[in-house]
Order: sequence, then structure tokens, then C-alpha cells
Amino acid sequence: MQSGLLSTYHSPKKNRSGFAWAVSLVLFAFYFLLYLPDYGYFPDYLNLLLRRAGFVKFDKWNAYGLLYSVAMIVGGWFMLQKHGNSRYHRLRTYCLVAVQVVFAFSLPLVLKVLDQPELYLSYLWPLSYDKLFPDTLAKLPIYAAVYFVVTSLVVFPLLAFYKGKRFYCSWICGCGGLAETFGDPWRHLSSKSDKAWRIEQVTIYSVLALVLLTTGLMIADASSKAALLGNAGTEVGDRVALSLSLANQAEAIRAAPADTLSASVGAIEAEVLAAKPPEWLAEKLVGVRAKATEGDVAGTAAEVKNLAYAAMPVTPISGIAHSVKGFYAFFIGALFSGAAGVGLYPLMGTRVWCRFGCPMAAVLGLIQRFGRFRITVKKDMCISCGNCSTYCEMGIDVRQYAMGNLDIKRASCVGCGMCAHVCPRGVLKLETRKDSGPAGNVQVWTLDL
Ligand code: SF4
Ligand code: SF4
Ligand code: SF4
Repeated sequence: MQSGLLSTYHSPKKNRSGFAWAVSLVLFAFYFLLYLPDYGYFPDYLNLLLRRAGFVKFDKWNAYGLLYSVAMIVGGWFMLQKHGNSRYHRLRTYCLVAVQVVFAFSLPLVLKVLDQPELYLSYLWPLSYDKLFPDTLAKLPIYAAVYFVVTSLVVFPLLAFYKGKRFYCSWICGCGGLAETFGDPWRHLSSKSDKAWRIEQVTIYSVLALVLLTTGLMIADASSKAALLGNAGTEVGDRVALSLSLANQAEAIRAAPADTLSASVGAIEAEVLAAKPPEWLAEKLVGVRAKATEGDVAGTAAEVKNLAYAAMPVTPISGIAHSVKGFYAFFIGALFSGAAGVGLYPLMGTRVWCRFGCPMAAVLGLIQRFGRFRITVKKDMCISCGNCSTYCEMGIDVRQYAMGNLDIKRASCVGCGMCAHVCPRGVLKLETRKDSGPAGNVQVWTLDL
């Protein structure tokens, strides 16, 4: 059994005190500095600092990957001080940290240094919402495109059915990895109330619906562009070609060294003017040049992207697709999963995004609900101490199941195993096996602990 349960609510950083609020504010401020410049809100101070320090291919996202890895290594060490007497927790912590360091930090950086596309192999659709967009896949080497499609649509759903979603959420995913390591001191803060559970049902499936809608619209948009491209030589066909080229160059600018910025912008100006655009479109080059003169790489890339959108002939589907994609990227990707997902650790527990927003959790959870993973309960052994519920980061009131002698098959369970680990009576066990009889409906009341 773990140590430290009695101290859980006595430490100021763990009991929603003023200190916890201050930590939360610092985390929010950091994420705003990280994300908002990419949406044109304020200068990209983090990238500017790195460039002034002479870093060329190491941008703020690489720095964030490094910081994230360090947070997981240090947090993992502290987590294992408390829970490392369990082999399950030792192995999954080593695995989470190794995946982060190798696949979410080192490999993308090495590929970038070698001028290859940065591949984040451990992030799949729909968590990484744009992984199956046609224009994302088109930019990848064929092996990587096949990997993302097959893993997202076939391999992971099958693994979720046979092993439960813990194979991903508690062993691979970087978001879950940060929650399990750096976030461990706050895991008990997740609400176990019925109200939270009802909200969770609405929000998580709404985000999933939005991802499906965005992906569907982007596929429809790509099909309509492909049809328009067939009209090369006409004004419409040429504008589509120009727009696609500018969109690619916006990505290239973001990844290229700052000293190539001026030359890239010169080439873009020449390409746009050669296409004899309408006056209002040519005028947008002023914004691109202004950002390039400031040396603002992210700002220049954002301006070129705006130019690409403006150059695209407006079809009903492209207008809607890009609006929905922009909405998702900003409100769900940046604010919800990024800023709130981590910023709320000290106030609402470590899995706010996993529980209320993650579309991957929604898909894998639905599969898990009908699959083989469950937490089995030894009959009539529970003494109702409540440790399991307290430590459940997903807000599942495990005690109620244990007291009712009911095995737990919940879509939201990420299989962290902490409930079984902290149980003083060994009542709970994580298992994968076929249902032995009809599941039946389970009536469970919950308490806000
Ligand atoms: S719920 Fe989503 S974000 Fe959280 S660990 Fe699972 S896949 Fe990752
Ligand atoms: S029910 Fe247990 S294994 Fe599942 S998320 Fe909660 S603590 Fe982790
Ligand atoms: S299952 Fe174990 S930890 Fe949970 S309430 Fe019962 S005895 Fe306590």
C-alpha cells in the first residue's frame, strides 16, 4: 500500500489553498505565453528569446518538450518514492517517461535537425486532431502516413478492446504521463460527484463530435480543392494552386532557421505577384513583410497562412471547414487541452482534459466499455475506507462498486491501478477477461469526497 495518504489534505499545495491557486495561475500564464502568439495575440517572446540566445533549430516547442520531459522525470521520481513498491507503477512510470523522452522529444528533434518532417509517433488521432486531415497526411512520408492511419483506426481500437484503454492512457500518452508523474500530488482533487459525472458525459462526447465534424469537413474540403485544381490555367485553378503553395510555405517558415526568413518572404512575394492577384490580396503582403522585418518567425508564418486562406477561392465547404478547424485548434487544442488541462491540476485534479475533453478517451472508453478490461472486486471484503475513491483521478467512486460487490467496467477508467494499489484489503484487481454472464445494469450512487 502507498504511503502519504494521511498527509494528502494537509499540504497547502494539495488542498486548493491560496498557494495552489498561485501555482495554477503560473501554469496558466506559461501556457498562454506558449500558445497564444501562434494565434496572433502577442509577440512570441519564447521564440524570440531562443533566437537571441542563438538557437536555430531548437524552437519553443522543442524547449517545451524538454521542459515537459524534465517535469515527468522529476515528477516520476517523486511519484515512485510514494508508490514505487508496486511493480505495476514502476513499470508504467518507466514506460511513460521513456516514451516521452524518446518519441515526444528526442525523435522529433533529431528528424528536424535532419530536415525531415517532425514525427510525434506517440500522439494519434483523435487526440492529435489533425493527424488524419488529408493535407497533414500528404506532407508525410508514406510509411508515416500509413502508420498514423492504421494505428489510429485499427491497432489502438483493437488494443482498447482486448487490454482496455490503460495501454495508452497509463503507459504511452504524454498527457496522461504528465498527470501520473508531475501531477501525482493533485490526483485526489477530482470531483466524485454525480454532477461532475453528468457534465463529463456531455463535454467529452461533444468534443468527440467536434473532432469527427472537423475531420469530415477537412476531407470534404480536400476533395473540393482537388476538383478545382483540375481547372489549371483558369483563375480559380491558379488561385487554389497558389493557396496550397502558400500553406506549405507557412509550415516551412515555422520550421526553418530565422536567418532564412527574409529570403523565404522574398520568394513568396515574387510568387504571389506573378500570379497577378487582385489588389486586396496583394496588399496582404505588407503584413507578411512587416512580421519578417521584426524577425518574428511565428508571426510571419501566421501571416503567410492568412494569405493562403485569403488566396483560396471561397467555396462553401472550405469556409466552414477552416472556421471549424480554427475554432477547435484555439478553444479545444490550445485553451482546453493545453492551458486548462495542466493549469487546473492544483484545483481540479490531474485529469481535467482526460476526463472532460479528450476525444481519444471517448473513443477508447466506448470500446473499453464493451471490451475485456475491468476491475474485479473481491466479495464482502471492502471496509469502506474510501482510499480507492480518494485516489481515483478520473472521479470514479470506486468504493461504491466495492461495497456493492460489483466489478467496475467504466468507460472513463484509465487503468492507472491506483485504486487497487491503495486498498488496504486487496479488494480490487485490474483484469482482462471475457464477460462470464450478462452485464446487467448497475445502479451506483456517488459521494463528493
Ligand atoms: S484520456 Fe486522452 S489525453 Fe488523457 S491519457 Fe488518455 S488519450 Fe491521453
Ligand atoms: S478506477 Fe482505479 S484504475 Fe480506474 S482510473 Fe480510477 S483509480 Fe485508476
Ligand atoms: S475497496 Fe479497498 S480502498 Fe476501496 S473502500 Fe473498500 S477497502 Fe477501502
